[in-house]
Amino acid sequence: MICPFCKADDDSVIDSREADGGAAVRRRRECNQCKRRFTTYERFERADKLVVVKRDGTRVPFNPANVMRGIVAACGKRPIDEDTKAAIVREIEDELNREFEREVPSVEIGRRVATRLRAIDDIAYIRFASEHEDFRTIEDIAAEVKAVQESPKDVKDQRQLFE
Ligand SMILES: [Zn+2]
Repeated sequence: MICPFCKADDDSVIDSREADGGAAVRRRRECNQCKRRFTTYERFERADKLVVVKRDGTRVPFNPANVMRGIVAACGKRPIDEDTKAAIVREIEDELNREFEREVPSVEIGRRVATRLRAIDDIAYIRFASEHEDFRTIEDIAAEVKAVQESPKDVKDQRQLFE
């Protein structure tokens, strides 16, 4: 595998175990160059790939890399590690495979990404939501910002105050 941190193609598997009730194999890997660790999942490929239906009606094959691209863009330099981003993509892909037979609306994918980003980082959430088709008007974005501001501060935010 290509190391997500230093891009070297030189790693060792340090742990391998069943995941998702046996539907996948989870491998913990360590890069032999930069010594950082990352996780890969190996799973069966669906014969009938999911198709994403965009708002304008065009259809494209589902590609987890596109989901990741949206998340990375929204996260920017926010302190969200690569494993967390990869886990969001994986969870959403698993959900879609379970819940949709053949086609999935793009807004459905966006909604699931937004829900997860909101749970981990307000700024990334707002950025994603402002790009997302469901939040097209400035009033919608303003309402979301207000909702986030009014939600109780969590421990993560308080810690940042003292850094
Ligand atoms: Zn590396």
